[in-house]
Amino acid sequence: MVNLKINGIPVSVPEGSTILEAAKLANIRIPTLCYLKDVQCVGSCRMCLVEATGARGLVAACVYPVSEGMEVKTNTPKVRKSRKTTVELILSTHKKKCLSCVRSMNCELQKLALEYNAEEDRFGTDHDLKPIDDLSPSVVRDNSKCVMCTRCVAACAKQTIGVIGPKHRGYAKVIGSPFDASLAHTSCVNCGQCIVACPVGALYEKSDVANVWGAIVNPEKHVVFFTAPSIKATLGEAFGLPVGTNVEGKMVAAIKQLGDVQCFNMDLTADLTIMEEANELLQRIMKGGKLPMFTSCCPGWVKFAEHYYPEILPNISTCKSPQEMFSAVLKTYYCQKHNIKPEDLYVVSVIPCTAKKFEITRDEIGHYTDAAITTRELAKMIKEAHIDFANLPEEDYDAPFGEASGAGIIFGATGGVMEAALRTAAYVLGGEGAPLEFKEVRGTAGLKEAEYEIGGSKIKVAVANGLGNARKVIEQVKSGEKDYTFVEVMACPGGCINGGGQPYVHDEVRNSIDLKAVRAQALYNADKDNKIRCSHENSAVDTLYKEYFGKPLSEKSHELLHTHYHQRNKY
Ligand code: SF4
Ligand code: SF4
Ligand code: SF4
Repeated sequence: MVNLKINGIPVSVPEGSTILEAAKLANIRIPTLCYLKDVQCVGSCRMCLVEATGARGLVAACVYPVSEGMEVKTNTPKVRKSRKTTVELILSTHKKKCLSCVRSMNCELQKLALEYNAEEDRFGTDHDLKPIDDLSPSVVRDNSKCVMCTRCVAACAKQTIGVIGPKHRGYAKVIGSPFDASLAHTSCVNCGQCIVACPVGALYEKSDVANVWGAIVNPEKHVVFFTAPSIKATLGEAFGLPVGTNVEGKMVAAIKQLGDVQCFNMDLTADLTIMEEANELLQRIMKGGKLPMFTSCCPGWVKFAEHYYPEILPNISTCKSPQEMFSAVLKTYYCQKHNIKPEDLYVVSVIPCTAKKFEITRDEIGHYTDAAITTRELAKMIKEAHIDFANLPEEDYDAPFGEASGAGIIFGATGGVMEAALRTAAYVLGGEGAPLEFKEVRGTAGLKEAEYEIGGSKIKVAVANGLGNARKVIEQVKSGEKDYTFVEVMACPGGCINGGGQPYVHDEVRNSIDLKAVRAQALYNADKDNKIRCSHENSAVDTLYKEYFGKPLSEKSHELLHTHYHQRNKY
């Protein structure tokens, strides 16, 4: 251990710790901008400069190691002046359109500018605006707001995609893709982890809010919303509620106040996905199909496989994602049952995910979803409608698509799809009394593996979250090092609870709590309290099979609930 003092407070930390880590232990805040826990630590923005004995000049706390007897001062006039100047220099090249910026009131630069009384124009203003890249269906880049922290570059590299990086030198430097290509023309998988990492309004999702408002006020349209499993665990953050608050009832009430709309529960088609996927797995095991079978509910992961590992496409389940299953059910079964023309039904999916905005554009999926809006976009609509979210009385989802099992709920966390499938596979093979909890696949570790004996058969499973971990699993399978039966992959670290469309969370919070674990816990708590825990117990799913699909993997199911994939080039 190394002993030092920060602002006179004694702290003891392991050797090799940085001043920033020691300050966190002492409960002293040092501002950061380019630093982001688990993503990047490069010491380039100079916001975290402090005075430290033994150092020449100010040092960057995020990278400077502590030493025995060191005395650190984080709040001297020299330190404050340096940070203020840093902010003012950043502001000189920043498009200062705070009033209409998607990050206004939630921007890390805005917060620092206020804290240090920075003058907006001390070093002038750059009026030479850079072009906005908005060709991608998922991610918009406005480089005139970029502060060059490179957090997005590190996030993309961590996903082992690396389609963005710094280009040009000095004043002309910008973040972008090779050969000035739009992000839409690269092998970007639309995961949105670059957006999650960005501290300012330089990266955001392609918004569908205006189209959804247009449908709501159109008397010809019958508008239905459905919400993905993780939204209930994150939407509250956009209204100041603590991380990990389950706001399902308020969320449903708020959506119903947006206009004459219905609100359904996507956890139900997570259950439907499990019915199809668990049966597909059992069929592959019994009839000698391609194994391991990989899950298919994450469109970021599917696009990754299409670009980087086309040889494993036959291993990916043919099940559509819960979003696409729901939209197909609505535009066929639901429309027929209620005498609605499919073109008059406007289907809005609320998702944690920017990749699902891309998914709805895939021709082979059937164009059943009219708009896919992120948790952030839903929050924006609720705020625009001046709905007092925190004080709303709770409401239930609308019939007939309100019921869900605990298995459907945990889809939003890494390991959730695997556990949900195992619950149903164990029931199908083992009957009543089959196990309900498979805790080995829970938790936020990037890679988890387990072996279970189900109905007399050994099933080896792996769960990967984050595409770097997916790559590791695929390489192990290809080399023969691992012989898994079933593999779950989620593109986003932690799964959908940390998706690219989830509420912005300041670096200060991200750096101090395990955001993914706290959000996931809200889903596991809801699973535990739910009346039914398994997908095969969902009576609404049962009705769908009885009235429309017949049975899992039927011809009708294959027509509407399954899809196929195709190789894409790498750019
Ligand atoms: S969306 Fe994902 S893959 Fe695309 S640039 Fe951002 S981090 Fe990279
Ligand atoms: S786009 Fe955002 S995350 Fe990327 S370098 Fe610019 S400010 Fe940083
Ligand atoms: S993990 Fe979830 S949020 Fe992330 S890309 Fe996949 S489906 Fe979307």
